[in-house]
Amino acid sequence: MQFMKDKVVVIFGVANKRSIAWGITKALSDAGATLALNYQNDRMGEAVAKLAEDLPEKPYMAACDVTSEEELATYFDGIQREFGQVDGMVHSIATAKREELGGEFVDTSWDGYALSQQVSAYSLISMARHARPLMKDRDASIVCLSYYGAEKVVDGYNVMGVAKSALESNTRYLAANLGPEGIRVNAVSAGPIKTVSAMGVSGFSSILDSVAAKAPLRRNVTQDEVGSAAAFLLSDMARGITGQTIYVDSGFSIIGV
Ligand code: NAD
Repeated sequence: MQFMKDKVVVIFGVANKRSIAWGITKALSDAGATLALNYQNDRMGEAVAKLAEDLPEKPYMAACDVTSEEELATYFDGIQREFGQVDGMVHSIATAKREELGGEFVDTSWDGYALSQQVSAYSLISMARHARPLMKDRDASIVCLSYYGAEKVVDGYNVMGVAKSALESNTRYLAANLGPEGIRVNAVSAGPIKTVSAMGVSGFSSILDSVAAKAPLRRNVTQDEVGSAAAFLLSDMARGITGQTIYVDSGFSIIGV
């Protein structure tokens, strides 16, 4: 069903075919959206371009490191020239120092804390600021990716859990700020999926095992299932939903002890 036909969606976070952002890209492409992708730096550009060959229509692609205001400005200038307006934006990016995704939380360094906040949480605000003028009068929608470690302690997730708490809070504050302009902002809290980022969390396989054993659906979610939920939130079908964190986690988050 082409429910995203005539909509332009900018997707941040495709690195390889395992990326959650790639699942979202495929879902949006199937729904008929016109797409723009970013890659973090020129080194990653070739891999993203190669992946994009599998899409029926070639997306707009350019480099953009979200920690650079200058690169964000240049990237969105390019989007403005190419499309003139934007109907949706996906924030599917995060980073942390590897040594802080494990060990004792009390040992978190300021540098590591600041880095994970800047890339994984603050960037949602700066991206929204740059996208805002292009979303004028479009009933636009912004979606970011969170995880259960935002609200409960997950072994090894440490500094990233704190960044995800900030991201979910940013989602609510941005939703309140931009709602009067018709811009919706929501988070998808995805269950664990084997991606390059996830493999950096110490003990990640046991997190997958725990979901498969305890979640109501008794299995882990797929990249495509997260992609479908994000596409729904970006579409007009979700036009009454904003400021929410929607779980796509096989129901794991409802289970107590
Ligand atoms: P991934 O490694 O495929 O994607 C992470 C992306 O972040 C990469 O494309 C990387 O280039 C990008 N990135 C990092 N720093 C950047 C910067 N400075 N500028 C621009 N881009 C930058 O891993 P993923 O698992 O697909 O992660 C996507 C999102 O989903 C993240 O927010 C992650 O926390 C979230 N998430 C992942 C899981 C999981 O289990 N995989 C579960 C819930 C939420």
